[in-house]
Amino acid sequence: HESCGQCTPCREGTGWMWRVMERLVSGEAEVEEIDMLLDVTKRVEGHTICALGDAAAWPVQGLIRHFRGTIEERIAARRGGSLAAAE
Ligand code: SF4
Repeated sequence: HESCGQCTPCREGTGWMWRVMERLVSGEAEVEEIDMLLDVTKRVEGHTICALGDAAAWPVQGLIRHFRGTIEERIAARRGGSLAAAE
């Protein structure tokens, strides 16, 4: 909601990243979406007028870099019907 909308990567990318992140939190995302999300962050990073695009992309990149295993466990737990096991 903070995007002013001038740059397409920020205008479209931040909302897209947000929606996928919400799905990752709930464990409803597919494992393949992790790399799709990472790819989108690379398309936003460095392709916007101001720093909001980078500021949105970098935390997501850091999350995937350091917690990919946890994200995958959460998705697997959701599939197995036990989200609590991944928390
Ligand atoms: S990167 Fe900055 S200038 Fe570009 S749409 Fe986002 S908020 Fe606006």
